Amino acid sequence: MADLMNKIVSLSKRRGFIFPSSEIYGGIGGFWDFGPLGVELKNNLKNWWWKTMVEERDDVYGLDSTIIHNPKVWEASGHTLSFTDPLRECRACHQRFRADQLKDSKCPECGGKLTDIKQFNLMFETYVGAAKETANKAYLRPETCQGIFINFTNILDTVQPKIPFGIAQIGKGFRNEVTFGNFIFRDREFEMMELEYFVKPGDDEKWFDYWLKERKKWFIDLGVEAKKLRYFEHPKKALAHYSKRTVDIEYKFPFGWAELEGIANRTDFDLKNHAKLSGKDLQYQDEKGKKFYPYVVEPSLGVERTVLVLLLEAYREEKDKEGVRVILSLDPRLSPYKIAVFPLLANKPDLVKKARLVFDKLRPTLRVAWDDIGNIGKRYRRQDEIGTPWCVTIDHQTLKDKTVTVRDRDSMKQKRVKIDKLIELFQDRLKK
Ligand code: ATP
Repeated sequence: MADLMNKIVSLSKRRGFIFPSSEIYGGIGGFWDFGPLGVELKNNLKNWWWKTMVEERDDVYGLDSTIIHNPKVWEASGHTLSFTDPLRECRACHQRFRADQLKDSKCPECGGKLTDIKQFNLMFETYVGAAKETANKAYLRPETCQGIFINFTNILDTVQPKIPFGIAQIGKGFRNEVTFGNFIFRDREFEMMELEYFVKPGDDEKWFDYWLKERKKWFIDLGVEAKKLRYFEHPKKALAHYSKRTVDIEYKFPFGWAELEGIANRTDFDLKNHAKLSGKDLQYQDEKGKKFYPYVVEPSLGVERTVLVLLLEAYREEKDKEGVRVILSLDPRLSPYKIAVFPLLANKPDLVKKARLVFDKLRPTLRVAWDDIGNIGKRYRRQDEIGTPWCVTIDHQTLKDKTVTVRDRDSMKQKRVKIDKLIELFQDRLKK
């Protein structure tokens, strides 16, 4: 489907997944708002990541650090320096170079073509306090991981983790991208899900391979087609300043293969630099009392980019007697609503009352939608289009034998189920 992106954009707008930010004023490039369904999908995705990367593991701890740090953080990380000078970017390897230090107009690393000189202010600047003075200048974080590095000793002191261990964080990141677009693929404000996995130096390559495999499996488990995923190994010459090795998990977007998740071996670069600039000891001490700087393997994933992949993977159209049935075949664990409850006829008070009782029974445990508008066929279609895996209809038979019709989104099969068995049935299916 060549126009799949357009279909996703239009469905997202029409059904309340994603809106252009500040739309009534003509929008603002690279910013998107998530509507009633979008926020559910996004939350489910983030919760899933948290569950699988933190809760279900013995070796990962969570963190929620601030968006604005002491500006020294960005000095130590190298961001202040490389983001505020007049720069030229290599179109091939994307490395940026101080324009005044270049000898000619070729990339000194790989020989690629360079862009014209630009102020690549990728970090958004702001001021902390009333006075707009340089001394008060601060930045909105372009990545969440620095919050992890600067809390490293707090976490060592409070949870005494045994190496190898990870610290995970989900939060907003801001990048004043020069080029943005492809819907929510590249944004200026977005959310990141990052894990910093600290290992003994020397074990880093082994753990790097482990995370490469784990992260790819994670997408496949959520229904992403394996053949639409591949690894892209960053050439040695084009590695970021902190990286020993970087591999992207790429996805085959309608506009071509592009990065979905980046996995980087950041070595001990960040901890060492923070130790140097802060004067604090940021080493890990092992059980024998030996101190060292751990190496860090970082899987880093954008929430919006993943939402886009999930929508692209889930979108299906099926021809039927009434035209085209649009289905978002989302993994039920991520669907905005798990169940929609309908009274068969909205003008029969006894059916509506009973349906409401079923709705209230399910609501504390599962995310449920209510729909009593139009005929049942229309309601099914509306739910298919937003990815609701199961619809529950209350009809006259329900009043007699306490059973309801459960209809499955993907197969469209229907079966009668006892009201008392509903929660068990759905919870079982959600386990997968
Ligand atoms: P690119 O080369 O595409 O600019 P990057 O290599 O700078 O990306 P990373 O720093 O590795 O990106 O970011 C980690 C992850 O965060 C990416 O894999 C992507 O999922 C997400 N991400 C990065 N930048 C953006 C953005 N501008 N909008 C949305 N998601 C982003």
